[in-house]
Amino acid sequence: MSYSIPVNTPLLSGNELKYLTECVETGWISSEGPFISRFEEEFSNYVGRKYGVAVSNGSAALDIAVQALDIGKGDEVIMPAFTIISPAFSVVRAGATPVLVEADPQTWNMDATAIETKITSKTKAIIVVHIYGLPVDMDPVLKIAKQYGIKIIEDAAEMHGQTYKGKKCGSFGDISIFSFYPNKHITTGEGGMIMTDDSGLYNRCKKLRNLAFEPSGRRFVHHEMGWNYRMTNLQAALGVAQLEKIEEHIQKKRWIGKLYHEGLKGVKGLQLPIESTEYADNIYWVYGLVADTQKLANVTVERLTENRIGTRPFFWCLHEQPVFQDMGLFKDEKYPVAEKIARNGFYIPSGLGLNRNDIQAVCNCLA
Ligand SMILES: *Cc1c(COP(=O)(O)O)cnc(C)c1O
Repeated sequence: MSYSIPVNTPLLSGNELKYLTECVETGWISSEGPFISRFEEEFSNYVGRKYGVAVSNGSAALDIAVQALDIGKGDEVIMPAFTIISPAFSVVRAGATPVLVEADPQTWNMDATAIETKITSKTKAIIVVHIYGLPVDMDPVLKIAKQYGIKIIEDAAEMHGQTYKGKKCGSFGDISIFSFYPNKHITTGEGGMIMTDDSGLYNRCKKLRNLAFEPSGRRFVHHEMGWNYRMTNLQAALGVAQLEKIEEHIQKKRWIGKLYHEGLKGVKGLQLPIESTEYADNIYWVYGLVADTQKLANVTVERLTENRIGTRPFFWCLHEQPVFQDMGLFKDEKYPVAEKIARNGFYIPSGLGLNRNDIQAVCNCLA
């Protein structure tokens, strides 16, 4: 084949260069500078939240969220078995214990009906992670959290602009987080944001982002530990430019999803993402496929690779992560749905830079 199709290509077609140039020309290149508060305000408005705290990446946002909610030793935090590792790292680093929930075979999200059985007197929070394109069924989660007095951290890193029953993802958690890694709907290169409506949590998150410097009092005197997780003005400049284009980006992702669906719906042995649930239409952060067997998954990925078409395997289940098994976590736990999704799932090129011919070529290779 004469050309290759990468698994992701970002789209930088707006005011990115103009705003970056402004940073260089004015000298505002660090975490001081006008684009940061502008990006925080504009993105909070977009999501419908009072406060945003821009940080260096989405995983950093989770670290801060966990500490801001005082999650630590002796606490349990409920999260999906099938997820990126970031939420589990944040919780384990804080000294708390992740408690896992089985996946739903259709949406690949945490099965909200399975949460309640996992609650104990030690449960402090639920980390909701919306996976790949459809949101978690939030109503049951919100109900349980309220009933048991448990906090919600919402990981909306893959859901920019997605809604649950018409309300924006990222507006549900006591604290919600986003990532702006280059494969997300909008990017800042590396970057993330913490969102909340609570002024106390907002101030705490801002402080934890900045080495836990006290907002007042003697500078360089610290009362708790924090991180340098600050976002730079350069990153925020990209963010402001990208946010101007967010509706276009979402439309493009949905167009990609629709073309893949048309092209692949007849292919035997491959489960496609569902187009919609009763509470949301798929936003197709990535276009994932789950093969009926692991063998078919391997053969299919090999064929794509031979044709220079980029793929990525799905996330690997938390209870099967060597790093956590070595710590003695999740002993003898089994989540058969999550395990099957992880073993047999992979995603195909899903970046905003794709064109119709690329998508056609991928479909032809899979047919
Ligand atoms: C991308 C992502 C993250 C991590 O974000 P980084 O900016 O790469 O640290 C966290 N959670 C989910 C669900 C993600 O998709």
